[in-house]
Amino acid sequence: MSYDPSNIFGKILRNELPCHKVYEDESALVMMDIFPQSRGHVLVIPKAASRNLFDADPAVLAEVMPLVQRVAIAAKAATGADGVRLAQFNETPAGQTVFHLHFHVIPMYEGVDLGSHGGGKADDGELAELAQEIAARL
Ligand code: 5GP
Repeated sequence: MSYDPSNIFGKILRNELPCHKVYEDESALVMMDIFPQSRGHVLVIPKAASRNLFDADPAVLAEVMPLVQRVAIAAKAATGADGVRLAQFNETPAGQTVFHLHFHVIPMYEGVDLGSHGGGKADDGELAELAQEIAARL
């Protein structure tokens, strides 16, 4: 299947929709997930157009992974999490719901179960605060 630029992350990347931005450079956007699976759930989104891992340019993957690492370290420090889970879904049966390549950085807390994928919407004030706190540690 091919890339459809009308997906929601495409719109956010074109500034047609808002987000709680953590970081942006010429090749990637980092923002808070508005339906977080845990406190501090962040999405790292390469700007290059690809639907998922299957059609991604390997050079884009190579460039984004160091940023994923930085975001994981920053999110863990900002939230006081005990660990961080990375997730990345490819096509609907695998759990993908937004068809622009992205990486989930999900802080994990000792003894706390992960919320459901695509669960309830978080409070905007809390997301804005977390975005600032993670950005400050990048
Ligand atoms: P996927 O299932 O495609 O791997 O993940 C898509 C993610 O995007 C989900 O975790 C979902 O909560 C998140 N999401 C969906 N719509 C929006 C939105 O409008 N803004 C933000 N920041 N996240 C979204």
